[in-house]
Amino acid sequence: MSITIKNLTLLGTHDFSKIVNDVLRSLNITGNVDSADFDALEIFNEVVGKKIITRLKITVYGTEIFLRKFSVARSDERFGAEVNRLVKKNLYTLLVEGFGLDAIPYGILHGVRPTKIIQRWIDEGFGVTSQGVIDRDKISRRIRNDFLTTRDKAELLTEVSLRQLPIIRTHDDKIISVYVGIPFCRTRCLYCSFPSNVLPADDKVAEFMETLTRDIESAADAIHRYGLKVQTIYVGGGTPTALPEKFFAELMEKVHVNFNGANVEEFTVECGRPDTINAEKISAMKNFNVTRVSVNPQTMHQRTLDIIGRQHSVEDVIRAFNDLRAASDWKINMDLIIGLPGERLADFKATLTEIIALKPDDVTIHSLAIKRGSKLQMRLADELNRVEDFDLPDDAEVRLMAEHAEKILRGEKFLPYYLYRQGYMSGQIENVGWCKRGAEGIYNVQIMGERQTILGVGAAASTKVPDRSAKKILTAFNAKDLTTYLRDIDRYITRREEILSRI
Ligand code: SF4
Repeated sequence: MSITIKNLTLLGTHDFSKIVNDVLRSLNITGNVDSADFDALEIFNEVVGKKIITRLKITVYGTEIFLRKFSVARSDERFGAEVNRLVKKNLYTLLVEGFGLDAIPYGILHGVRPTKIIQRWIDEGFGVTSQGVIDRDKISRRIRNDFLTTRDKAELLTEVSLRQLPIIRTHDDKIISVYVGIPFCRTRCLYCSFPSNVLPADDKVAEFMETLTRDIESAADAIHRYGLKVQTIYVGGGTPTALPEKFFAELMEKVHVNFNGANVEEFTVECGRPDTINAEKISAMKNFNVTRVSVNPQTMHQRTLDIIGRQHSVEDVIRAFNDLRAASDWKINMDLIIGLPGERLADFKATLTEIIALKPDDVTIHSLAIKRGSKLQMRLADELNRVEDFDLPDDAEVRLMAEHAEKILRGEKFLPYYLYRQGYMSGQIENVGWCKRGAEGIYNVQIMGERQTILGVGAAASTKVPDRSAKKILTAFNAKDLTTYLRDIDRYITRREEILSRI
């Protein structure tokens, strides 16, 4: 359900426009539109000492409705963050009540990495008894109270956060992960917002490989000089296996020689598109000790694969999976998307049944996100297209798909082990990684935990160094755009050096 307002006015003692807009967007309320359901909405927020007061005035057909709520800031949280949270909480509660809206699963929890909040609470001693036992119910209750999530989402978040603790808690800042970004794919998917280029001619790929080699070798040199130890390697993109065979083998060798040392516990290669996987590439991955691979069907319906521009068949998925399984005992992940154009609950159920029959070690369930820069977003923004033309399932149906996935995956003894959220997600739910016990993708957990240094090489790779004393994360970004990456590589290497030297 969406609501339109003719005149929307924000008032108050401070500028809360960004967070007010976040709440309005999450509830599908749009303001300042010509032809609208309601005449006016006035939102007033006021901070008085530790009290946050929110008032609404809703005008419809000349009748004015007044609503008011206040909350008091907790003293064990940073005051500024508390004020923002309570403005959101007051406003969300009043809007749901005033307009008779359905509550949304994550309430006012809008961040990408909600598990970090719970992990910080535990570090600070919240929900931990004097014997060191973690009280899950207490944590889950606080999530529901502070962020107005549903009980199910609070419990899922708590479960994932606790499962990650042994992986993210490190007493050695010198242990790092390495990300290698390969920005090529065979075609561009309808929903893709990644910096992936359709694979260029060999001479351009050779130029990229040359620059990437400099990037990799200078990173390896820094790892050696600063005494860093690589725990995980993740080769992603794009689709690294989209590279022609000789370049792919060269990539595997370079990554192995420079990073794959004695401390490495996991070496993942994103194979993504099944039609990019063949015997030569499988053998290159085996030769250089890859331990985890990803094959991403997204759906097992050919009609949908065609609509989203994957240009591979359902049979390709099965063939690639079986070839990978037969070749090695590496862990195999498969990504699925719920909320794809034209799909309904029955379609997703059929996909999941087929995937489970293959027996992957890890299944990631994504909810379709309509991201800026994707063809889908651009087409939806184009007035010639209507949302209905894409026949997207509604939020309620997407939530049923997620519930089905959870029920079936738990029944098959998969455990949720990482979770993140994005803007504009179908169903306003989350992406969840499910794995068999012991098959957790360590890199996935580390990248979400943001406690470990991630060293990035390649196009669109970022390097992140947590600075614990300053409670912030130092960052260095390689360009997303291929031409800029090739041109400015020296600048990226220098900036990365600067922040690595701070570990
Ligand atoms: S396979 Fe992944 S990176 Fe490549 S175009 Fe599709 S969504 Fe983008």
